[in-house]
Amino acid sequence: MAGSGSAHLRGDEALLSVQDLVVEYPTKAGTVQAVSKISFDVLPGETLGIVGESGCGKSTTGRAVLRLDRVTAGRIRFGTDWIEQIDEKHMRQLRRDMQMIFQDPISSLNPRRAVKEIVVEGMTVAGAPKADRAKKSSEVLDSVGLPPDRYSDVLPKALSGGQAQRVAIARALALNPRLLICDEPVSALDVSVQAQILNLIEDLKAEFNLTVVFIAHDLGVVRTVSDNVMVMYLGKVCEFGDSVEIYEDPAHPYTRALLDSVPLTDPEKGFAGPALEGDVPSPLSPPTGCRFRTRCPNVQDRCVTEEPEMREVRPGQFAACHFPIESIRKTSTPVLSKQL
Ligand code: ADP
Repeated sequence: MAGSGSAHLRGDEALLSVQDLVVEYPTKAGTVQAVSKISFDVLPGETLGIVGESGCGKSTTGRAVLRLDRVTAGRIRFGTDWIEQIDEKHMRQLRRDMQMIFQDPISSLNPRRAVKEIVVEGMTVAGAPKADRAKKSSEVLDSVGLPPDRYSDVLPKALSGGQAQRVAIARALALNPRLLICDEPVSALDVSVQAQILNLIEDLKAEFNLTVVFIAHDLGVVRTVSDNVMVMYLGKVCEFGDSVEIYEDPAHPYTRALLDSVPLTDPEKGFAGPALEGDVPSPLSPPTGCRFRTRCPNVQDRCVTEEPEMREVRPGQFAACHFPIESIRKTSTPVLSKQL
């Protein structure tokens, strides 16, 4: 079981369990504390959204799960495997089950290969027969809305951004993954295309029985796809809980500031608090106590000296804050005194 600050963990039934993960990058300027002891679970079939400003450690977290970055400390369980411990050969097999989709689809595709070859790259490496590959290639292209007779022989340079992201998704699906990690998958796309790709991921999730980790700095995007949301700030988890609850009734001042920074379509639903100002402090020397304190509108002395632990501030909603925002829901039962 994870150590302190893990009240929001949901136990053995999780497909992915990250416990006290630390990822640090040694650099000439010092040690970058990219991810500092974070814990979270993803249940089978769930979509977990990870949000936060750029540089908060979202991508590093996704990469650590696939062990693309060295895990400095902590534990990561995927299914029955503890991935920080297994050897590289076993990890290569596991990576078939955990596919990742990136922000820049074009550069993730081999420019010299036709679409029909790209989508079954993994099967080719595994030595699958040509006929099986051809069948699978048609199937997955169909699934992502690219008619195989029109797109099979096309090279990546002839694809639009949205089409290239569909190819990247098809390539991931061809390996029948259990977990899909989407790292800013629509940030580089036109707004009109973003909705199409998000809908596609939603449809495929049901069709292919996928569990999804969805990383994005755009709260609107994360909200539409996520069951639960984890808000990160400077390598730490600030808030975790049901996506509707967090967006409608944030408990952490950082979550609220992020929401205030987003232009609202319905001004009636806006929050009164001030929008987020200033930059994220350097991860080379994060602030003492609460890392958000240098930008927090509610900062008090305790925040400077004492790091807040994750605790349940309303039923099912967890925040790492000494002075969480009171619920705006009259019906909600506060559990602020229940230190878990
Ligand atoms: P996000 O995905 O939230 O934008 P990242 O996980 O990419 O954040 O980065 C977290 C922090 O780690 C940032 O300060 C970033 O500059 C730093 N970082 C990421 N990768 C490296 C690396 N390979 N070497 C040094 N610092 C890194």
